[in-house]
Amino acid sequence: MTTDPRKPLSRASQLIHGGTRRSAYGEMSEAIFLTQGFVYDTAESAQQRFEADDLGDLYIYARYGNPTVAMFEDRMAGYEGAEAGFATASGMAAVNGAVFSQVQAGDHVVASKALFGSCLYIIDTLLRRFGVEVTLVEGTDLQAWRDALSRETKVVFFESPSNPMMEVVDIAAVSELAHAAGACVVVDNVFATPLFQSPLELGADVVVYSATKHIDGQGRCLGGIVLGRKSFIRGDLQTYMKHTGGSMSPFNAWVLLKSLETLELRVRAQSETARILASLIADHPALLSLTYPGRPDHPQAELIARQMKGGSSLITFCLKEGQAGAFRFLNALRLFQITNNLGDAKSLATYPGTTTHQRLSEAERLALGIHPGTVRISCGLEAVDDLGADLNQALSAV
Ligand SMILES: *Cc1c(COP(=O)(O)O)cnc(C)c1O
Repeated sequence: MTTDPRKPLSRASQLIHGGTRRSAYGEMSEAIFLTQGFVYDTAESAQQRFEADDLGDLYIYARYGNPTVAMFEDRMAGYEGAEAGFATASGMAAVNGAVFSQVQAGDHVVASKALFGSCLYIIDTLLRRFGVEVTLVEGTDLQAWRDALSRETKVVFFESPSNPMMEVVDIAAVSELAHAAGACVVVDNVFATPLFQSPLELGADVVVYSATKHIDGQGRCLGGIVLGRKSFIRGDLQTYMKHTGGSMSPFNAWVLLKSLETLELRVRAQSETARILASLIADHPALLSLTYPGRPDHPQAELIARQMKGGSSLITFCLKEGQAGAFRFLNALRLFQITNNLGDAKSLATYPGTTTHQRLSEAERLALGIHPGTVRISCGLEAVDDLGADLNQALSAV
């Protein structure tokens, strides 16, 4: 049994075995070390542990690290091809840590405009409040990135594909520009999932996930992770996280370890279902437009083919009859559940305008391509025929 994430297990096997630590009992399923802290044999060993630069597989306090959480971190790092990971209480704790641990007043951050509402709050409101300059750019426009980057730029942040309009940023090209300016590139890879996009291979420095989404994929708990070079993860990031308190619970780490065992199976099946459903409804007369990464009519189909290894379990479309049409559609759904999560085994439908992106003004939403008729659906593991029938009957009700 390997416990070293750098040993060359194939990626699929990493998801089952990576990071496993067995206790003296030789348990089959990973143990939950549901403990807040750890005891020391002597006062001297407590002192030594606090003084150690690298604790290895020794622990002090669950806010700093915990064996069950470490299994999740190493399994994710091995799968992503990262040197190290730090697991967080939620996806937002990961985004917050990855950005705030790197900046101080006077620094500059460049981010794409097309961000999830809470990511936008961190970048566009909180950073400014602490004296960090922020430039928001059109993520698809390389010249805009070039113009925005300067020697003061410390961090570049973007989602790709973005939530909910599935706008795709050229990770390799933006990373090259950012590195020329000396900036660290942080990619929120939630929509792509670790299966379908590897930002570190494309040149990014740090990857963040909300594990709440596809990684759990069964609607049970919140979680997140920051992945990157060991010098950053065990350095500034871990220092920031352990002192500000956004660490993952050992119980949630255990739930997520179990989830990783089926991540590939679930995401592949859900994305195949989404591909079929996107084709089924793309030409429906009630729709103004439909966006699905992997379809040849996606505005950045060529970039997607170059940068992504698969499509998505999500489809975003716009109903001709605006919010009234969107609400009629949502209220007519029988199998798809109305909620704001995504990546779940259950199929879900979201109206971003009044939920995930309700903080924005209508003009700001329109600038991001979120129209009054925009609906985002997340395809689950139900039979594709049942889901297709549900979408068709709900579209007819519009
Ligand atoms: C959901 C989401 C987050 C936040 O994750 P939580 O686990 O809900 O805190 C961050 N980024 C994106 C793109 C998301 O979809």
